Amino acid sequence: MESHQVVIVGAGPAGSSCAKALKEEGIDVLIIEKEILPRYKTCSGVLFGQTQVLLNNYFGGLPPKSVYCRPEIINNSNIMEWNREKGFFEFVWELPKDGIQFPTVYYNIWRNLFDLWLLEESGAEYRQGWSLKGFSLKDDNVAVEVTSKDDKTTRLSCSYLIGADGGNSKLRRLLDPAWIKESLVSSVYQTYNRFSDSGDLEEGKWAVFFEPDISETLCCVHHKDDFLTLCVGGFSGRDLKAVNEMFKKFLEDEFSVVFEQQERVEGCVMRMGPPNLGRGRIILTGEAAGFMYLNGEGISVAIDSGYRAGKAVAKAIREGFDAIDIYGSQSIDLLRHVSLCTENAHFFSVQP
Ligand SMILES: Cc1cc2nc3c(=O)[nH]c(=O)nc-3n(C[C@H](O)[C@H](O)[C@H](O)COP(=O)(O)OP(=O)(O)OC[C@H]3O[C@@H](n4cnc5c(N)ncnc54)[C@H](O)[C@@H]3O)c2cc1C
Repeated sequence: MESHQVVIVGAGPAGSSCAKALKEEGIDVLIIEKEILPRYKTCSGVLFGQTQVLLNNYFGGLPPKSVYCRPEIINNSNIMEWNREKGFFEFVWELPKDGIQFPTVYYNIWRNLFDLWLLEESGAEYRQGWSLKGFSLKDDNVAVEVTSKDDKTTRLSCSYLIGADGGNSKLRRLLDPAWIKESLVSSVYQTYNRFSDSGDLEEGKWAVFFEPDISETLCCVHHKDDFLTLCVGGFSGRDLKAVNEMFKKFLEDEFSVVFEQQERVEGCVMRMGPPNLGRGRIILTGEAAGFMYLNGEGISVAIDSGYRAGKAVAKAIREGFDAIDIYGSQSIDLLRHVSLCTENAHFFSVQP
């Protein structure tokens, strides 16, 4: 049976950052990713200020130009909420953390290319098209069951299994079944639309709307290369395809946008439940652990929690301490900031 000191589930920002920290400590790590890379991920694809600081600290710099899309820069002063009474006014998408104010110039990137860059920078070995199915524990060993795209089952063995498998984490569902019942769930739907006229929606502006008649979460729109990227959301049972059409009509009527064909649709589930860092030899990080900052800003804390989880596991392997104890004690500031962001969230247009 193939064996590694650590297996990480998911090649998103949390998984790659965790792998980077482990590689730095000389730990043998394998990442398994269920999609074929570069894979799409439902995301506005904006690198906020703290994300940039963390990339500089942990990855030695920002991604290469090939990862960015037009307009490359979104100033935070150009992120605006709009309503009929007030017109455009400030929308805050990032709070200072522990008194530190982050850069206010944000970068517009393609998530598929960004995530592949992060993965390659981690230096870790990875297998794509491999999906976690289950795990079992025996003594100091975790047996991991994986299914590949061609339905072949593979068994791996490791000392630590790390769940960096995102907002609908399979590993967290296995470890923490109450999460499904207790967390608030909303679905998100994102479309990439060609247009002949973006009307009053200037390039470089990211517009946010709270229109309960359209969407139960915020709706937003911003430019990405030749597309207007529209994002809407709703609680279970909502027909988000219809919601997307309503939002388009709203932008045509209020902002004189002229849409052409819709090129791509993405969607995902967001589970908002209490954080859980894992148990014993099963560690959770990023969105799988419930790490999410203000209004769904999550790349920063995925990178940060992933890196800290990796360092904690390396220390546990080297020195024999409990990995969860180390990870927990080194994540207090992250958990505090998650709470602050939850208290200040401006995400739903109706009471959940
Ligand atoms: C609509 C939307 C817009 C957003 N916009 C932004 C933004 O502009 N800026 C920002 O900072 N944050 C944004 N976020 C949040 C951000 O996308 C997430 O917080 C971040 O991607 C979490 O990173 P992660 O590594 O924890 O998980 P993910 O990025 O979700 O990565 C998880 C990986 O695990 C893989 N995986 C899942 N299940 C399995 C399995 N069973 N086996 C193997 N692999 C598996 C997935 O394919 C994926 O590659 C947005 C979120 C949404 C929904």
